[in-house]
Amino acid sequence: MLIVMRSDATAEQIARVVATIAELKLTPHPLPGATRTAIGMTGNTAAVSKSLFEVLPGVENAIRVTKPYKLASREMKKDDTVIGNIGPKTFTVIAGPCSVENEEITLRMAEHLMNKGVRYLRAGAFKPRSSPYSFQGLGLEGLRILERVRAKTGIGIVTELMDTEHAAAVEAASDIIQIGTRNMQNFGLLKRVGQCRKPVLLKRGMSATLEEWLMAAEYIMAGGNYEVILCERGVRTFSDHSRNTLDLSVVPVAKNLSHLPVFVDPSHGVGKRAYVPAMTYASMASGADGVLLEAHPDPDHALSDGAQTIDFDTLDAVLAKLTAMANLFGRTLG
Ligand code: PEP
Ligand code: MN
Repeated sequence: MLIVMRSDATAEQIARVVATIAELKLTPHPLPGATRTAIGMTGNTAAVSKSLFEVLPGVENAIRVTKPYKLASREMKKDDTVIGNIGPKTFTVIAGPCSVENEEITLRMAEHLMNKGVRYLRAGAFKPRSSPYSFQGLGLEGLRILERVRAKTGIGIVTELMDTEHAAAVEAASDIIQIGTRNMQNFGLLKRVGQCRKPVLLKRGMSATLEEWLMAAEYIMAGGNYEVILCERGVRTFSDHSRNTLDLSVVPVAKNLSHLPVFVDPSHGVGKRAYVPAMTYASMASGADGVLLEAHPDPDHALSDGAQTIDFDTLDAVLAKLTAMANLFGRTLG
């Protein structure tokens, strides 16, 4: 159930609803919106009577959420969720190498991005590689490099968490924690990042439906971390002209069903660098709130995913075109 507060509800009135939910041994989830606060409740809500809440001061109404995902649903919150600068007014570019390779490349990348106004660097220290013989990432040493680069440049860090064991270390080194496609239904990991106090970028599982993806977001939110960014990165289909099939059609639907920001990762979506710019522009047109791009000073010598990685010149051209396009879509490049 969802309790919608009146727009003039006081903090005390909100606190009273929260306390009433807790007395029922249910978990309250207050989500402030632009105009009003809505308070979700999770646990067994089947027997809870709406009138219990509708009589409380400051309550507008109580609504039964019909979707299997609750906190992630648009029913829960009409306004788009804004996470830092990420939201409906901006289009946020997150770029960088697939992996943290060494300090020199990571720093060069971060400095280039900061000069171009890009405020987030992506780079994996822990890499989920299909082959155990491929480069597995620098692990904890990679996180130390990211921390030093963040300290030197002030750039925000987006890096993947693969297992619960490294949750605290990744949380400390990152500004956004990435959960990869292969872990979208790793429920132990989702519950663990639900305890983190950093936003989570949740990639869509490569064969997950939209509902399964939103349920994965719900796992994180049910733990009390409401800052989830959805990221489409391509799904498995019969098509073999691209690494995956970038499902841009999911973007407007996800934004309709959920208030969470939706990103697109064209790099993993197409798998070939020549096609990354076109699908980046298409991502903005689809209504996405941002993109995750693999970029590297020397993509041909990247230690992972070089084939889909763009160089600095291409990145600069993409940023220039996105800046021009952003006006059309009522956004500014963030
Ligand atoms: C990545 O971002 O480098 C990555 C491994 O992504 P995905 O989980 O989408 O394959
Ligand atoms: Mn990659």
